[in-house]
Amino acid sequence: MSPDPALYARWQKIYPRYQSGFFRNLRWLSTLILVGLYAFLPFVRWDRGADLPNQAILFDLPARKFYLFSLTIWPQEIFLLAFALIFMAIALFFMTAIAGRVFCGYFCFQTIWTDLFLQVERWVEGSRKRRMNRDVEPWTFDRGWRKGVKHTLWLLIGWYTGAIFTAYFVDAPTLLPAFWHGTAPFAAWFTAGFLTMTTYLFAGMAREQVCIFMCPYARFQGAMYDEHSLIVAYDEGAGEPRQGNRRDRQATQHRGERVGWCIDCHECVTVCPTGIDIRNGQQYECITCAACVDACASVRDRVGMPVTLIRYTSLSELGGGKIAWFRPRILAYSGLMVAMLVGVVVYFGVRTPLEMTVIRNRQPIFIRLSDGGIQNNYTAHILNRSPKPQQYVLQVEGLDHAALSVAAISQKTAEGWPVLTVESGEVMPLSLYLKQTTGPEPIQEQQAVRFALHAVESDGGATVYHSVFIRPKP
Ligand code: SF4
Ligand code: SF4
Repeated sequence: MSPDPALYARWQKIYPRYQSGFFRNLRWLSTLILVGLYAFLPFVRWDRGADLPNQAILFDLPARKFYLFSLTIWPQEIFLLAFALIFMAIALFFMTAIAGRVFCGYFCFQTIWTDLFLQVERWVEGSRKRRMNRDVEPWTFDRGWRKGVKHTLWLLIGWYTGAIFTAYFVDAPTLLPAFWHGTAPFAAWFTAGFLTMTTYLFAGMAREQVCIFMCPYARFQGAMYDEHSLIVAYDEGAGEPRQGNRRDRQATQHRGERVGWCIDCHECVTVCPTGIDIRNGQQYECITCAACVDACASVRDRVGMPVTLIRYTSLSELGGGKIAWFRPRILAYSGLMVAMLVGVVVYFGVRTPLEMTVIRNRQPIFIRLSDGGIQNNYTAHILNRSPKPQQYVLQVEGLDHAALSVAAISQKTAEGWPVLTVESGEVMPLSLYLKQTTGPEPIQEQQAVRFALHAVESDGGATVYHSVFIRPKP
C-alpha cells in the first residue's frame, strides 16, 4: 500500500530575516564569549615546570594525560570524564526545568555556528527578500560570485573551527603554523578536514534540520518542562482573534466585537530560524532563540500595542498564575549538582601524587621456610602521579622481625627496606615477599600489617595500605 502523499512534503529552504533587539544582542554576546573562548583557550600558557607542556588546556592523547590549568587528569581517573558528563546532563535538565531550551538558543554550538554562517550569507547575498529572489533567478555573474564567496567564507570558518579543535590536543603555537607550512601530522589534517566538512554541512547547509531531525534533545525536552518552566510563548488571550487588515479591524471594533492585538504581520514567522509560527502553540522545533520576541516587540513599538504578544513566560503565568521557582525538581537538580561539586572538590583535595594497592596472594596462604620463618606473598601496584620520576621507600609496619623483599629490586636502604624508582605516570606492578624470621610467642594466626610507601623527595607524597599477615595455627 503506498503511503498517503499528504503526509510527506519536500523540505522548504528557510530564509530567516535579521531582527535586531534585546535578545538578539544577548545572543551576539553569548556568541562572542563562546567563540572567543574556543579560539583563545588553546593559546593560554600555564607554567608546569621543565619537561611538561605549558599549554593551559591540553588533551595529551599520546601521554594519556589531560591538563586543565593546574590539574592533571591521569588515565586511571577516566571515571572523572563520566562524572563530568553526568554533571553536564543534570545541569542541562536543571537549565531546561528553569528556562526551557535556553541552552539551544544561546549556548549550543549548532545554533551559534549557524548564526555565524547566516550572518555571512546576509553580508554577501543581502536581505531575506534579496536572497529568496536570487535563489529563483537564473544564474548570472552576480549570483555566481556571491554564492562562490559565501561558500568560500563558510569553508574558511569551518577550517578555522577544525584547526582550532586540533589545537586542544597538540601544542597550539606549534601546530597552527605547521598547517600553514604543510608539516602538520596526518591526524591533525584529517581531524581539521573532517570538522571543516561537518561544520560546513551542519551550520551552512543543514542548519535547522540538525535541530529538528538529528538532535535528540528536542525530542525529550518536553519531559523536562513543567508549567513553571520559562518558554517563549504567544499570549493567545491578548492576541486573538487576530486581525490583519486595518479597515477590517476598525469595522470589527465598530460593530462592538472584540479584536485581538495581533495584526497578523507574520514578522514573528519570518525571523524564525526554524520556520515555525509560534502562534500555533508550543512546538518541538522551537529552540527558544527569542527572535520572534524581538520581532513582536518591534511591531508593538511601531503600532503602539500595549503588550508584547510573544514573550518569555510560563504556562502557569499565561493561565493567570505565578512562576514557582523553588519546585521539587529544581531543588533536586541543584542538590545533586552541589553534591557532585563538593565530591569533586573533596576528591582533588585528598588526592595524593602517589597511589598504592597491595593484594595478599591466596595461594599459598603462607610458606614455611627452612630457617623456621614464615613468608606471605603479595602483589602490589604503585602509581606515580607526580610530574617527574620518583624514588620511593617501601616499609612494613606492625610486624616484628619483618623482612621485605621485592622481586627484581635490589636497591635497599641502610635499614634494609626496598627502594623503588617509578616513572611519572607509570603504574609499576610488584611481587612482594614479606617474611617473619622469628616470631614472638604466643603468635597470632592473623596479624594486621601496614605497607608504608613514601617518596625520597618531599613532593612525591606518601601513602599507607592496610593488609594482613597469616601464619600457621600455634
Ligand atoms: S518560535 Fe521564536 S523562539 Fe522559537 S525558534 Fe522560532 S523565533 Fe526562535
Ligand atoms: S509579530 Fe506579533 S503582531 Fe505580528 S504576527 Fe507575530 S504575534 Fe502577531
